[in-house]
Amino acid sequence: MSKYWSPVVKDLVPYVPGEQPKLDNLVKLNTNENPYGPSPRALVAMQAALDDSLKLYPDPESVELKQTIASYYGVRGDQVFVGNGSDEVLAHVFFGLFQQDEPILFPDISYSFYPVYCGLYGIASRVVPLNDRFEIDPADYEQANGGVIFPNPNAPTGRFLPLDQVERVVSANPDRVVVIDEAYVDFGGESAVALVDRHPNLLVIQTLSKSRSLAGMRVGFAIGDSELIEALQRVKNSFNSYPLDRVAQAGAQAAFEDETYFRQSCDGVIAERDRVTAELEALGFDVLPSRANFVFARHPLHRGDVLMTGLREQGVIVRHFNKPRISEFLRITIGMPEQNDALLCALGKMV
Ligand code: PMP
Repeated sequence: MSKYWSPVVKDLVPYVPGEQPKLDNLVKLNTNENPYGPSPRALVAMQAALDDSLKLYPDPESVELKQTIASYYGVRGDQVFVGNGSDEVLAHVFFGLFQQDEPILFPDISYSFYPVYCGLYGIASRVVPLNDRFEIDPADYEQANGGVIFPNPNAPTGRFLPLDQVERVVSANPDRVVVIDEAYVDFGGESAVALVDRHPNLLVIQTLSKSRSLAGMRVGFAIGDSELIEALQRVKNSFNSYPLDRVAQAGAQAAFEDETYFRQSCDGVIAERDRVTAELEALGFDVLPSRANFVFARHPLHRGDVLMTGLREQGVIVRHFNKPRISEFLRITIGMPEQNDALLCALGKMV
């Protein structure tokens, strides 16, 4: 810390991202990437974008991409906002749509970026414990004076809250924004985009990092009422008016135009998730029911941190959170079948 730092920076507790090791011989199951890789059509589109036109600035509004996303989800172009990954979209949401004086609500076990943005923007928050089955209880969110945010499926639990219960939270807080972070929804969840036309206070956020396997390109988006989108545009234009570069815009658009590949890769992940769950259970693990591209599992006889270290020694990286209630769990990203086999084999030697 230096005397030149601002008081705000001195107090920041930054997000700690999962490790991104360079070693090729590691089985990397720690940051919920999709092992199938981007659509071949998206790769071709990105390569085609690498030409002399890079001397020109990109479209600051990503109009074509927004239109593609709007048609895909059956909404209007003015109901879509895009940003550099959903983390950037979330930053704009926290800055532009949450009340600062009243606490926003989010689950105690949830995406650890939310408290970071609260700290950065001085937003009060109240964490709501998950129930005994690690589920979100909508009754806990019916009086949210500052707004609500939660992932659905939740991370890192993988548990999904059915849409009628999401709608209950949205309907109970008509004067506050309810944000549903659907980073993992395509792996068997149901999207709340279906509800946006009925609820002007609902904002749904998604990403191309998971189901569309473009984590390296950084593309995320929000869908909601045009007035919510307008607030995000104002914030964006106050920070950085070129959120997506030309290559990302081209790749994201092509990814949405390759439905066959998208379905195949999501179905592949889902089938492997169900197999890994069954095999972990056969090894004695408790596995929370997951609708995401990862599973959250604990062993009654073995500590989470010990298992994580033992896996690492065998070349398999998973995520462990040193936090109350979940320190005995491992969060395991679903990889290719052979990667999952390596994980199961390594665990089999330890439990
Ligand atoms: N929301 C949740 C719940 C996540 O787990 C992640 C990924 N870490 C994100 C948002 C951000 O994803 P990205 O910025 O790659 O779109």
